[in-house]
Amino acid sequence: MSPTTIDLRSDTVTQPTPAMLDAMSRAAVGDDVLGEDPTVLRLQSEAAAYFGMEAALFCPSGTMTNQIAIRVHTRPGDEVICADLAHIYLYEGGGIAANSGASVRLLGGDRGRFTADAVRAAVNKRSDAHLPWTRLVAIENTVNKGGGACWTLEALEQIRAVCDEQGLAYHLDGARLFNAIVATGQDPKRFGELFDTVSICLSKGLGAPVGSLLLGSREHIARAHRLRKMFGGGMRQAGYLAAAGLYALEHHIDRLRDDHALAQSAAALLAPLPWVAQVLSVETNLVICRLQPHVAADAVLAHLAQDGIKASTMGPDLVRFVMHLDVPAAVIERLKASLTTFVAA
Ligand SMILES: *Cc1c(COP(=O)(O)O)cnc(C)c1O
Repeated sequence: MSPTTIDLRSDTVTQPTPAMLDAMSRAAVGDDVLGEDPTVLRLQSEAAAYFGMEAALFCPSGTMTNQIAIRVHTRPGDEVICADLAHIYLYEGGGIAANSGASVRLLGGDRGRFTADAVRAAVNKRSDAHLPWTRLVAIENTVNKGGGACWTLEALEQIRAVCDEQGLAYHLDGARLFNAIVATGQDPKRFGELFDTVSICLSKGLGAPVGSLLLGSREHIARAHRLRKMFGGGMRQAGYLAAAGLYALEHHIDRLRDDHALAQSAAALLAPLPWVAQVLSVETNLVICRLQPHVAADAVLAHLAQDGIKASTMGPDLVRFVMHLDVPAAVIERLKASLTTFVAA
């Protein structure tokens, strides 16, 4: 058994750093349900300014920010267009149906990235009373199940044009948007211009213990504020958590490059292995590999676990490795030692 466990299951497993804990312990707080927590207010205004958006709302999770956004944009019976790989569809407990009473039109694509033409073709005619009213297009960037794939601004702009033409709202699930921004050099304010609402997670690559923000117009965020209360997400002295988020925004964005470099190194180790069929080309901090048909993802995880390395599966033949703040420098050495001794049964 190796000395320390290396946890590559997700970028959510990080511990707050000593400097982050220090910032948290010194936070000025108040009752945020009454709108009186100065640190929450500062986090909301700094995050909104970063994306050039009018307002922001601090929430307990990315799932809640997405679910609130979907509820803001839809009415029961409406339809939401998203990718077949979308987190809002696959991993939010059926929340689109339960929280908003909306149905979903799934689009295939390249690692969760679909085209403006596919969106246009999926929009239902409003004049036909049989059809659910298409109301919202939701994008994910980076695409989690697409192995951290990033969208081009051109593709996002083309879909914005379809939304304008068809009267649709446009939401971005940006749980890992900071990874996309660092990887591509895209201007964060372009996302603020293109989308009606954007959700971002502070508790993924940025390393905060808890928290997500929904960004949008003052009007959308005012409605989101009511819905957060209805969903039970109003928090009292939340400034302690917001302080972690502020610290993360100020200190943990640029370092995402290090995670991306480690992900490239891990992909280079995986690609030549005889039991690996394909490694999705690495764009950010996620590495997904598809195994040869006779190899089970669970067997690979069990072997890695014996060497003190945790990874996760994204299907019976898919293994995912995620690089993050708490990954030690020795990760590539340790991964190499373990991966090269796996024998497919
Ligand atoms: C993690 C994640 C979320 C939200 O996650 P929470 O665990 O609820 O904070 C949303 N979308 C994507 C793409 C994610 O990876």
